[in-house]
Amino acid sequence: MVDAPAYPAPTSLSPSRVEAFTSCPLSFRFASIDKLPEVPNVAAVRGSLVHRALELTMCEPSDQRTPELVHRCLDRAIIEYGTDPEMCALALDDESTAAFHDQARRLLDRYLQMEDPRQVRAIGLELRLEASTGALSLRGIIDRLELDDDGGLIVTDYKTGRAPSPNFEQRRLGGVHFYSFLCESVLGVRPKAIRLMYLSSGETIEARPTDRSVQFVTTRTNAVFNAVERACRTGDFRARKGPLCDYCSFQQWCPEFGGEPALAAVEAPLRPGAVAR
Ligand code: SF4
Repeated sequence: MVDAPAYPAPTSLSPSRVEAFTSCPLSFRFASIDKLPEVPNVAAVRGSLVHRALELTMCEPSDQRTPELVHRCLDRAIIEYGTDPEMCALALDDESTAAFHDQARRLLDRYLQMEDPRQVRAIGLELRLEASTGALSLRGIIDRLELDDDGGLIVTDYKTGRAPSPNFEQRRLGGVHFYSFLCESVLGVRPKAIRLMYLSSGETIEARPTDRSVQFVTTRTNAVFNAVERACRTGDFRARKGPLCDYCSFQQWCPEFGGEPALAAVEAPLRPGAVAR
C-alpha cells in the first residue's frame, strides 16, 4: 500500500514561488501549502503602491505622461490603497504614513530619471499569463509588455527593493526569463529583451532571451517542482536560514529560531494584522 502524501502538491508555480521554495522550503510550506496568513511588511506594500502608480501612469496617453501626471497617479493610488487590507494592517500613524508616501514619491522620482514614460509603447500592463510544461502549470504577472522602435517585444519588471549583487544577478534574471517563457508560450513570440528596473538604485539589468535561457527556465522549474512534490510526499520541508529570515513572517515558529512549526497553524491566524493571501 502506498502512503498518502503528507501535504497536497501544488499544480502551478510562479517565479516568486520557485524562489521561495529554493530560499527556504519551510517558509514556502507555511505560505503556499498551509496558506497561513502573513503580517504584511512596509517595503512590500510600498512596492505594490508604486507598481499601481506606474500602472495608472501607463494607462494614460503617452504624450500626457509628465512627471506631474506620475505624481498625480501616485495620489490616486494612495486613495485606492486607503482601504487595502495589507495597507490597513500596517497600522501606520500619521507621521509614518507621511514618511511611507514620501518614500514612494522618491522611488517614482528615481523612475523618472531612468526613463521618459512618454517614450514607452506599452501594450500590456499587469498581464496575467499561464502556460504548461508537462503536468505543471506556470503562472506569472508581467508588470509591463511594450514594443521597441522596431516592433520587438520588451518585458519590463519594476523592482522597488535593492539591486542584487553580481552573484545574485543571474538568479534574479532567472525569474524574468520565466516571464519570457510565458510570453513566448502564450503569445507565440519570444521577447527581444527582458528588463529589471531597480527604482531604489536607478539600475537597469537587461538580458536577451535565447534558446538556452528558455531551456534553463523549463529545466529548473521542473526540477524545483519535483523537489516540491517530494517534500509534499515526505513532509520534509526543511528550514533554510538565509538573508530572507529577517523578513520572514513565520520566524517565531521556525526551528532555526527555537520555534515549534506545529503551532503555526493555530497561532498564525490570531496575530494582529495577519492578512490571508
Ligand atoms: S525564519 Fe528563515 S529559516 Fe526559518 S522559516 Fe523563515 S526563512 Fe526559513
